[in-house]
Formats: sequence, C-alpha cells, structure tokens
Amino acid sequence: MSEPTADGMLHLLRANPTLLPEAPASYTGQDMERRRLDEVHPCLRCGERAALAYVADTEIGPRWLDLCPACAHWLRTTAS
Ligand SMILES: [Zn+2]
Repeated sequence: MSEPTADGMLHLLRANPTLLPEAPASYTGQDMERRRLDEVHPCLRCGERAALAYVADTEIGPRWLDLCPACAHWLRTTAS
C-alpha cells in the first residue's frame, strides 16, 4: 500500500469530514490551545501523541485535525 500524499489525505478528509472529531462551532484560539496542551489525542496520520490542533472548516462544520509535530511539518511542506 502506498503512503497517501498530503493532498490525498486532505481530499479524503474534505470528502469524509466525519472522520474528524467535531470542534466547537465558534472555536477560539483558547479552544485550540487547550486541545493541544491539556488533552491527549492521537495524531491523525501516525497515531503518536498529537502536539498540534488545527481546525478544518468542512461543509458540516469545524472539525479537529490533530497532528504530531512531524506530521504537521509533513502536511505543511507537502500539501499544495
Ligand atoms: Zn504524526
């Protein structure tokens, strides 16, 4: 099985937003800090402990995108 690309992963998530946990509709920077610092979530890509919380705005509302530093770097540097 080939490794999905960053674009492939983002496409998949956009098409299937229920794969991501629901974020508060009116999320704030504080919500993002709390999720990343005070809560333990697995990295979406590799399963390691996530250290970064992003919010993806999808058609069914905002969803959390939890990533470890390595995968966040991977996404930032390889997504188009
Ligand atoms: Zn990861």
